[in-house]
Formats: sequence, C-alpha cells, structure tokens
Amino acid sequence: MTESINVDVAVIGGGPGGYTAAFRAADLGLSVCIVEKRDTLGGVCVNVGCIPSKTLLHASSLIEHASHGHQMGISFAQPTIDLDTLRTHKQSTITELTKGIANLAKARKVIRVKGEGQFTSSNSLIVKGDDSYQIQFKQAIIATGSHAIRLPIAPRDDRVWDSTDALALKKIPEKMLIVGGGIIGLEMAQVYSSLGADITIVEAQEQIIPAADKDVVQPLLKDLKKRYQILTKTLVTSMEAQDKGIVVSFEGKKAPQNASYDVVLVAVGRRPNTSNIGLEQVGVRVEKSGLIEVDNRMQTSEPHIFAIGDIVKGPMLAHKATHEGKVAAEVIAGLDATFQPVSIPSVAYTAPEVAWVGLTEKEAKQQGIEYSVGKVPWLVSGRAQSVGATNGVTKALFDSATGTLLGAGICGENAGELIHEACTALELGGRARDIAHTVHAHPTLAETFAFTAELVEGSMTDMLPARKK
Ligand code: NAD
Repeated sequence: MTESINVDVAVIGGGPGGYTAAFRAADLGLSVCIVEKRDTLGGVCVNVGCIPSKTLLHASSLIEHASHGHQMGISFAQPTIDLDTLRTHKQSTITELTKGIANLAKARKVIRVKGEGQFTSSNSLIVKGDDSYQIQFKQAIIATGSHAIRLPIAPRDDRVWDSTDALALKKIPEKMLIVGGGIIGLEMAQVYSSLGADITIVEAQEQIIPAADKDVVQPLLKDLKKRYQILTKTLVTSMEAQDKGIVVSFEGKKAPQNASYDVVLVAVGRRPNTSNIGLEQVGVRVEKSGLIEVDNRMQTSEPHIFAIGDIVKGPMLAHKATHEGKVAAEVIAGLDATFQPVSIPSVAYTAPEVAWVGLTEKEAKQQGIEYSVGKVPWLVSGRAQSVGATNGVTKALFDSATGTLLGAGICGENAGELIHEACTALELGGRARDIAHTVHAHPTLAETFAFTAELVEGSMTDMLPARKK
C-alpha cells in the first residue's frame, strides 16, 4: 500500500544541509517531511564522513602524542590496537549524534520518510523503500549530497576502497596506496599511518592540498615526507587485482616502478547526486557537471524548488550546506534571506592541521589584487614552544590600500579552531589595525594571528622588523 503525505515543504536528503533546512522550516511554522534512504539522519557527514573521521583522527592523535612523550622524558610502551573496540567507539559517537538528530526531528514534528525520493511532477514525489509513499508538497528542498568519484581504471575489488570503506576500519593494511592528496586522502593517511600502515600518496597536481597556498601547506608536507612516500605530479595509469595485492603502475617524472599494495584508497573528489531523482519531471536546470543552478536564495530555475549543499556550486562542505539550508527554509517561510558569505573556511584535520579562509596568495596574484602579507613562523610563539608545535605558520593577506583582511592560512596544532578568528574578521571587514590592536591572551597560539597584522602594521616586537633595502 502507498501512504499519502501532504506537506508545505518536502526535503530530499537528511544530511547536515537537509536536516538543518527541515528543522528551520518547522521552527518557522511550516509542515515538513524529510526523505532519507539511510536508517539514520545525518548524511555522509555524521554517518560516514566528518564525524567518524574525526573520531579516528583523535585516536591517531593520542598515538602520535604518546610516541613523542619521550622528548620530555615521558615514555609509553608501544600501543596495542584493538580494532574492534576502536570501531565500536567510533560507532557509538555516530549513534549518539544520530539519536540526537532523530530526537530533534521528533520534537519538531518533522515527518521522517525512509526511502529514495523521486519527483513525479512539480508538486509530488514518490518514495520507494521498505514502504512506499506519495508526497504532495508546496515547496521542495533538494539536499541529496554527493558520492565519491570512482576511477575507471580501478578494478571492483574489496581491496580498492573509497572513504566509506576506509572509515569502516575493516583492517590495517601493511602497504596502502592513497590516490589523491586532498583532504580525504591526507586525513585517512594520518589515521592508517598511526595504526601502522606503510603509506604512499599519489597526487596529480604539483602539491598536496592544491587549493591552499604552498607555503601554508609546507609544515605539513615536511612532517609527512618523513613518514610517507609522497608522489606529486604523478598519475596512476593502471591497477590490476592480483592474488598478492593491487598492482599499480604510475606515470610522471619521478614515477616509481609498478608496485603491489594491500589496499588502494581512491580519494580524488566527489560528484553531486543529481541523477535518478526525477529532476527532468520538474524542469530544474542542471549544469553539465551535474550541479543544480541556484541563485543566492537557493532557488532553482523552478522557484518553488530549492537546492542546497554538495549539489550546488561552491565547496562540498557540511558547514556550507547547513547555512544554505537555513537560507532555503527562511526564503520559503517568506523571510528576506540570502546566502552571501564573505568566505567559507576549509580545514584538513591532519597533524598538523591546515586551515584557510578567504583569498589565498595565489588567488590574489591571479586577480591582480595589491596586498601585504604578514607571515609568522610559530617558532616565535611561546605557546608553540611550550607544546612542541613550533613547526606551524600563520599567514594573513591584507589589502594594500585599505588594510582590510583578504584571507588567512594556518598550519599547525588546532589550526582548524584558530582559523575562526580570521573568519569573523573577514566577515566584519576587519583591518590589520583592528586585529593588531585586539589584545590577545598570552601565551596562546591565537596570538600568531595578531602578529600577522602587527607585521603588516610595522609594530611587531617578537620578530625583527623587515630589513630596509
Ligand atoms: P579533494 O578535491 O579535496 O582532493 C582530491 C585530490 O585528488 C586533489 O588534490 C586532486 O588534484 C587529486 N586527484 C584527482 N584525480 C587524481 C588522479 N587521477 N590521480 C591522482 N590525484 C588525483 O577531494 P577529496 O579529498 O576526495 O574530498 C572530497 C570532498 O569532500 C572535498 O570537497 C572535500 O573538501 C570534502 N571533505 C572535506 C573534509 C573536511 O572538511 N575536513 C573532509 C573530507 C572531505
């Protein structure tokens, strides 16, 4: 039997973007249903992405910190790793969060529909799952997220992983090849290297994390080079599943000989989930890349249908999706909302972390913007010295004419937290003077951000002034 549901707003996809949109719409007095094919809400981020990866990265950090203790005269025995307990711990973190989201949905009377939603007309959806549903809606928000790109040369074999397989923690491979030196590749390299795997990373571009400035990534690269083989400007040309492992061949100036790996993780980006949802039934415009066209109110070419998150332009990040979700819900409720952030931060939760926001130096150069740079090596920070984090760097770009902050990049312990001072300054149009005059607590790593402004203002005393030429 098919159950009929009639709502103001149907949200397709229960990830961070979708459930946030649904909750905001419900709080604004609309009747809402949320269609999700997984058993739990939270999408990739909570179930098989941001949250499990951060839980495993925390385990990795524990192992790494313990291994450095001997430098202060504190030594621990080699860790023994109980993979079952680690997996259970990771799962319990996910369960706590998904239970919390389910409770929030229930308290708001958001109807949950389990299954895959497909448009059948501009005001109706069918949902196929264990049960089937026919949903009539006045407005809809599409929040179907993205999936990992498969390499056509990769064989279908359970030793070729995507990020979901890596987070499932099936085993610790002895030799692991990671294709893609972006955020997922590097975070998983961090986890599996701490657990004992021998890691090789292949990156097509000339640097890992190509989106960030090279000098900001440098402290991470320096550390990683001691631990993994990193092959930049290198491509994988073939992969063959053999009994002994996945045999891989490479192409590039410094390409190694064919080699065999116990596991190959493919982390070369993600694609939007916009096929098989019946978009052709509603006439929503979709670009060649699969992204849905939207304006800054998150409205598609069909004004009563909205799209948010990984299926629209911009970085594929949960925090972007949640903000877009709120905008979509508010516009539907008749509020005057737009999605126009000055910038969206990116963070690689590696050790050390890399975080950046706003313009990078290479973007400023490409755009012909005149800027001043303040770059502070963490060697000058008392706090960095105390916690053994002197390898870090904080860099900020300021407009030469107005002194306004244009962007910032940080590499070092807690960079992912520290970057938010730059985010707020950017959003508020902060200038070097404002930042330099903001009293920062001593000793903190956050001081290094103030130092970048002091450098540009010429008032920095913890470093020597730039030599006059
Ligand atoms: P990515 O775009 O961050 O990195 C992919 C990397 O693979 C790039 O550096 C690219 O140059 C390289 N590459 C592409 N094809 C290649 C090939 N054939 N051989 C070698 N290298 C190749 O993508 P990702 O790491 O897969 O992450 C997917 C998305 O998820 C991204 O948008 C990312 O920002 C997001 N994400 C964010 C976080 C976080 O915020 N911490 C964590 C995980 C994922």
